[in-house]
Amino acid sequence: MGKSTGFMEFRRELPPEINPLDRIHHWREFQSKASEELLREQGARCMDCGIPFCHTGQIINGMAAGCPVNNLIPEWNDLVYRGLWRQALDRLHQTNNFPEFTGRVCPAPCEGSCTVGLHDPPVTIKNIEKTIVDKGFAEGWIVPEPPAVRTGKKVAVVGSGPSGLACAAQLNKAGHSVTVYERADRIGGLLMYGIPNMKLDKKTVERRIDLLRQEGIVFVTGTEIGKDIPASRLIEQFDAVVLCGGATKGRDLPIEGRELKGIHLAMEFLHKNTKSLLDSEHADGQYVSAEGKDIIVIGGGDTGTDCVGTSLRHGCRSVTQFEIMAKPPETRADNNPWPQFPRVYKLDYGQEEAKALYGNDPRQYLISTKRFVGDEDGNVKELHTVGMEWKTDAKGRYGPVEVPGTEQVWPAQLVMLAMGFLGPESTMLDQLGVEKDERSNAKAEYGRYETNVKGVFAAGDMRRGQSLVVWAINEGREAARECDRYLMGETLLP
Ligand SMILES: Cc1cc2nc3c(=O)[nH]c(=O)nc-3n(C[C@H](O)[C@H](O)[C@H](O)COP(=O)(O)OP(=O)(O)OC[C@H]3O[C@@H](n4cnc5c(N)ncnc54)[C@H](O)[C@@H]3O)c2cc1C
Ligand code: SF4
Repeated sequence: MGKSTGFMEFRRELPPEINPLDRIHHWREFQSKASEELLREQGARCMDCGIPFCHTGQIINGMAAGCPVNNLIPEWNDLVYRGLWRQALDRLHQTNNFPEFTGRVCPAPCEGSCTVGLHDPPVTIKNIEKTIVDKGFAEGWIVPEPPAVRTGKKVAVVGSGPSGLACAAQLNKAGHSVTVYERADRIGGLLMYGIPNMKLDKKTVERRIDLLRQEGIVFVTGTEIGKDIPASRLIEQFDAVVLCGGATKGRDLPIEGRELKGIHLAMEFLHKNTKSLLDSEHADGQYVSAEGKDIIVIGGGDTGTDCVGTSLRHGCRSVTQFEIMAKPPETRADNNPWPQFPRVYKLDYGQEEAKALYGNDPRQYLISTKRFVGDEDGNVKELHTVGMEWKTDAKGRYGPVEVPGTEQVWPAQLVMLAMGFLGPESTMLDQLGVEKDERSNAKAEYGRYETNVKGVFAAGDMRRGQSLVVWAINEGREAARECDRYLMGETLLP
């Protein structure tokens, strides 16, 4: 522990974000750089408490409490306080292959279970993580490290999101020859085409992929397993296969008027936007534009927030976000104590930008869409909604119920459906004969990852359902360990 009185001397402080009214005019990241002085003070706030819950990664009450990749947080907080950045970077890479991704996009369950958080705002763990790795790249400390010896074993990884990349990185480190298949034209999964550029700059994603390539991993893009290559061919040509195809089936809203023009699944909107941005800075026009339109985003989660931020950057006229749940409390509820993930009201970046521009948080809580209504050309023009309340019915079931007399009509020329995901697509799994669980995910036990098909493993959202980048990295790393054990009879991978 660097400074035993640090948590009493220094207040929690994050580097200022770019002003919301400025940043909505560009696609660059909204986070700014912290000074080393600030970071040392923030690192000094870590109490090095006896039992650091921040790195446990336990599931409590259905949510992660502590870091799912078990980052050695108190250790690198201390190293940062003492100015030993290179050692801090080495500690960070011991548990996390891609801290530059989690340091930008993770919801930081570690901070929700930080012991300082019991009486004061928690240590700025996520920002410290980001700064350590950004400094590592700036100083040139992060270089390709190909394995000294190759085992002669070949592994195919399907899907290049964070789970596929972490899995490939670990298997390559163990000396196996890894080929990653990706159906999109760029590598990265939702790091590339889900999370928008202002939250995670795509150059940051490409920088890591270049390193992995130089370490010997082969990436094949534009190739869908199960369509362009029969899944069975992977079994014939490789010693093992790891399925990291994500949970890409978006939840639709099959109500009256769904067929109208201008209603899109959120992922279509976000994917096309980033592709067009990267291909031509939007000059090709190959994206769904929100410019000059009233936008309604149905769904209050991360995906919905990204649709809000993207619409604002297009120059929409207004943006409203519907949420069926009630507004969360300002502070922890009695049934959500520390060290659980805090379910509290938060203004995420997209809502912060909308508030700065229009004066209020764009979210409308406890609302459900009954039908879409179109104009004479078949374009959506309005949404009809009803207010909801959550209560227990006569049979003891808790759920949302319509409140009579709360019907409303909302003008909208563009609607995004961001209501979550239903699980993985089934073509590849069916071709391989991989069993699915009751939620239609690839069935494989957490910690073991092997499916019912010998030599075929599954990890990330494809196995656990739509989740978080940090869980995908955790599963990719662990699936690599189990795959290595399967190939070699033993393993040294963590
Ligand atoms: C819009 C959006 C924003 C998000 N924001 C955040 C955030 O801020 N923070 C956070 O922690 N999490 C966020 N998430 C969740 C997070 O991105 C995912 O949990 C994570 O990316 C899952 O990683 P994965 O590797 O399992 O799958 P994915 O990232 O989904 O990657 C799977 C890849 O497999 C490819 N693929 C699928 N089938 C095949 C096939 N048959 N052949 C070849 N390729 C195939 C897909 O094209 C895709 O590229 C967000 C999700 C979305 C949708
Ligand atoms: S990966 Fe997420 S949970 Fe882990 S230390 Fe970083 S921000 Fe915290």
